[in-house]
Amino acid sequence: MSEKENHQPKGGQGQVIEAETFRDSVGTMDNTGARKWVFPKMPSGKFTNYRTIVAILLLLVFFILPFVKINGNPFFMINILDRKFFLFGQPFFPQDFFILALGAIASLVFIILFTVAFGRIFCGWICPQTIFMEMVFRKIEYWIEGDRNKQIKLDKQEWNSEKIWKRVLKWSIYIIISLVITHFMFMYIVGYEEVFRIMKEGPLANSTNFLAMVLFTAAFYFVFAWFREQVCTLVCPYGRLQGVLIDKQTINVYYDFKRGEGRAKWRKGEDRKENGKGDCIDCNQCVVVCPTGIDIRDGQQLECVNCTACIDACDEVMVKVGFPKGLIRYATEDEIEQEKPFKFTTRMKAYALVLLGLVGFLVYLLQDRGVMEAKFIKPAGSTYFLRDGKITNSYNYTLLNKSNNNIKLTMKVLNPAHGEISTSGNNTVLVKRDEISKGTINISFPEKEIKLSKQNIEIAVFDEKGKQLDVYKTYFEGPFKLAF
Ligand code: SF4
Ligand code: SF4
Repeated sequence: MSEKENHQPKGGQGQVIEAETFRDSVGTMDNTGARKWVFPKMPSGKFTNYRTIVAILLLLVFFILPFVKINGNPFFMINILDRKFFLFGQPFFPQDFFILALGAIASLVFIILFTVAFGRIFCGWICPQTIFMEMVFRKIEYWIEGDRNKQIKLDKQEWNSEKIWKRVLKWSIYIIISLVITHFMFMYIVGYEEVFRIMKEGPLANSTNFLAMVLFTAAFYFVFAWFREQVCTLVCPYGRLQGVLIDKQTINVYYDFKRGEGRAKWRKGEDRKENGKGDCIDCNQCVVVCPTGIDIRDGQQLECVNCTACIDACDEVMVKVGFPKGLIRYATEDEIEQEKPFKFTTRMKAYALVLLGLVGFLVYLLQDRGVMEAKFIKPAGSTYFLRDGKITNSYNYTLLNKSNNNIKLTMKVLNPAHGEISTSGNNTVLVKRDEISKGTINISFPEKEIKLSKQNIEIAVFDEKGKQLDVYKTYFEGPFKLAF
């Protein structure tokens, strides 16, 4: 139901339409633009229990994953500093940019498809911001300051000893948790060994890292202690995308206005149907429980993170008054308005098709991704030299080992024949796992073999068993010859 529809008076043609009264600012802002602090009531119920289980599992994954290794490589690491990335223990380098970019595009299409079908379910169930805010920081707040009413009372009261110790205790725990989150976040960037090393050596020996940790800890503290739901309502680009992604066939948390209106207070023994009243008893429980401070009965709003707290709150009320649960529930707008069941729409099918194509291409690229990437580049400004009837060119080589094993490589000129490679040692190079080896080689040809001043050549690299791992096409310079 649109906001406008929701606030139009019921009635037929010819009736005067009242001015639209719905707010045009976020729910946590008053008329002066000042922030309205949200004190949500502690949620409880079926969905809250499920969400707690999911949150515990995800938190376990977050805190365990940095220590998981596959074949000695981190399971997941984004080492921006060394430009090394690990996914499922497999190393990726900037040279794999195409694969990473395609993976990012496929993820984006997946997010779009998921959002078109399921709205902001991700925000309520999986998003780290919601999980840390609602399942960690908010729980500590309830534990120290009590539920909504006690929090409001504490907030209003003077800075007496009770308020001071409760706030100091809460903020101190928040700082410690922010510090822990920062350390684990760093583990995803530089690895747990490096973080432990920095911790062991202390801040004086690692002043830059220490400063970065302080800044990130302060940022996390600021977000979870003060900025809170405003991340979702003011900052998060995904939240802003909802307006263009969701439609009437998208599953979201909805208030069943057909069943609930006209809302009216509960009177024991009253026949509400007979008196033209809906199932909403206007108890406000769905509002006071909302962590983004909105009233879901106003329809779908950008602040709603699909946290399900209002579903649980309303279900509890419905049980108490003996009405069926689900006045607020996961549904599509079409389901509520026109009783049409959820269906996989043409739009969703189109996104699914694009996603399938991208994933197929990605799988092909991953399978085709060799274990070695070799490059032979002529140094800028270099040319050839002649000695003992041979023409020689120099090349700088870069050998990138993408496998989990050290590889002893042999370099050979494939084409044209009779090319010889010489290095300062021999033409065998040991390239360690996940590492890049760089050096210089000379390639020589008998003078008679080089017919052109710029001739195409192919240089290949082979492993110890003689398997060709990569081939690189470049050119070879020789003396200028007149062709007759
Ligand atoms: S909790 Fe349910 S009954 Fe109470 S105000 Fe909200 S929608 Fe109405
Ligand atoms: S409206 Fe309901 S689902 Fe949406 S954020 Fe508020 S409590 Fe959560």
